[in-house]
Amino acid sequence: MKVIVADSINQKGIDNLKEVAEVVVDTDITPEELLNTISEYEAIIVRSRTKVTREVIEKADKLKIIARAGVGVDNVDVEAATEKGIMVVNAPESTSITVAEHTMGMMLTAARKIAIADKSVKEDKWEKSRFMGVELRNKTLGVVGMGRIGSQVVSRCKAFEMDVIVYDPYLPKEVAKQMGVELADLETVLKVSDFITIHVPLTPETKHLISKKELEIMKDDAFIVNCARGGIIDEDALYDALSNDKIGGAALDVYEEEPPKGSKLLSLDNLVATPHIAASTREAQRDAAIIVANEVIEVLKG
Ligand code: NAD
Repeated sequence: MKVIVADSINQKGIDNLKEVAEVVVDTDITPEELLNTISEYEAIIVRSRTKVTREVIEKADKLKIIARAGVGVDNVDVEAATEKGIMVVNAPESTSITVAEHTMGMMLTAARKIAIADKSVKEDKWEKSRFMGVELRNKTLGVVGMGRIGSQVVSRCKAFEMDVIVYDPYLPKEVAKQMGVELADLETVLKVSDFITIHVPLTPETKHLISKKELEIMKDDAFIVNCARGGIIDEDALYDALSNDKIGGAALDVYEEEPPKGSKLLSLDNLVATPHIAASTREAQRDAAIIVANEVIEVLKG
């Protein structure tokens, strides 16, 4: 059996695959080369670079499984794969801790003005009074979306002695109780929270879930963090709220357009910005490779 690894993944995943199949690692493969060779393979593993299009899938006569070593399957034509009976898998759980840790970093960076203080010191300045911050302790964390990542953020924030309130209409009350969190409607969460963190998927329902009206409900000194998906926060409304000090600050890892070239948000001192790196750690990449390699092995073994 032959497997193609078309984007770079952690070696441990490749080693595991080699125990059951012939593994071709070709991380420079072009779309044309993939089209011409895909019929040789039972499985393909990709990350973000390689697009598994309908055209590729149509030529994939032996293919049983398409695996994406990461979260989401945006670069795979799932409909075409399903029509052909090819399984599509990914590794959404591989990045939960990594994204939760990044979220903690974003909260602390916003609360303690670490990014702008760093910039100031490197400009040879010593502006101690400019960077008065706030503690996380005894503050209320509002979590929007209590899934894999949201719940990891909650356990970390509890260690910081924060109170937690959650908006997640799909989380059963009993589960919330077991997790030791209070459920509330979005308006209440926005009203009482000092830090709000977003961990919902982007869907028609969550597009601009946080817009002008929601930002107006927030406390004037509250912070909002989005390490989920661009488009959940309305960026024009966020710019207005931040530039008028309607809220204390924001931290974004994701944007409506990526990269957010020319976005006026980037001119603001009360915005912390990272380039969609919340999932980028060695551990998350390793775990993603191991998880999808195991899925491929299961399928190849039948
Ligand atoms: P998950 O599916 O485990 O959890 C999502 C939670 O959101 C669920 O509990 C669900 O009930 C809830 N939810 C869905 N619709 C909702 C709504 N309208 N209002 C409130 N709650 C709602 O997902 P996860 O693994 O925790 O990931 C969360 C988000 O993080 C996803 O959007 C994912 O794409 C994103 N993510 C971003 C990065 C990054 O690099 N920045 C990396 C990994 C994941």
